Amino acid sequence: ASLSQLVSDHLRVVPDFPEPGVLFRDITPLLADGVAFAELVEGLADHYRGRVDAVAGLESRGFILAAPLAVRLGTGMVTVRKGGKLPGPVIGVDYELEYGTARMELRPDSVVNGSRVLVIDDVLATGGTAAASIALIEQAGARVEAVCMLLELQDLGGRSVLEGRHIDSVLTV
Ligand code: 5GP
Repeated sequence: ASLSQLVSDHLRVVPDFPEPGVLFRDITPLLADGVAFAELVEGLADHYRGRVDAVAGLESRGFILAAPLAVRLGTGMVTVRKGGKLPGPVIGVDYELEYGTARMELRPDSVVNGSRVLVIDDVLATGGTAAASIALIEQAGARVEAVCMLLELQDLGGRSVLEGRHIDSVLTV
C-alpha cells in the first residue's frame, strides 16, 4: 500500500478530545500494527536516505517516529521538547496557541553546525509547534532540510505558517 493509504487506514478520529469541539486524530492504531509501523518507517527511510544528517522529533509523538527513522537512516536523533523538560543550557521559543501560549526548547549542542536536519511530527495543525522548532534548530546553527508530517490538517493553515519550507505530508485531509 502507499504510505498515505497506510496512514489513512490506521487513523482514529476522536470527536471532542482533548476538549469539546476538537476533532483529534489519533495515530496509535498505526503504531500498534507492527507491519504497518515498519512499512511506514521503511518508506520514510527510503525517501530521506542520504539526504539528512539528523532527525529531530517534536515532543511527544514526533519522538516515536524520529527514533526508528534515525536508526534506519544511521543518523542521530534530536529531541525538541516542551518547555522545562530538557536540562540546560537550552534555547527556547514561545508561541501562541488558540488559548494561551506554549514553548519549545532545544539544547543547541544537540545539533551539529551546518548539518541537514529532518523535522518530524505526527500532525501539522496550525504550524506553531513546527515553526518554533525550526527556528530553534536554525538558531543552533543547523539547516532544516525538510519537514515530515504524517498528517496535515489543511484547514488549519500550517503550510502557510511554514512558507518556503519543504513539507512532506504523508496524508493531507
Ligand atoms: P500545531 O502547532 O501545528 O497547531 O499543532 C501541532 C502539534 O499539536 C503537534 O505536536 C501535534 O502532535 C499536536 N496536535 C494538534 N492536533 C492534533 C491532532 O488532531 N492529533 C494529534 N495526534 N496531534 C495533534
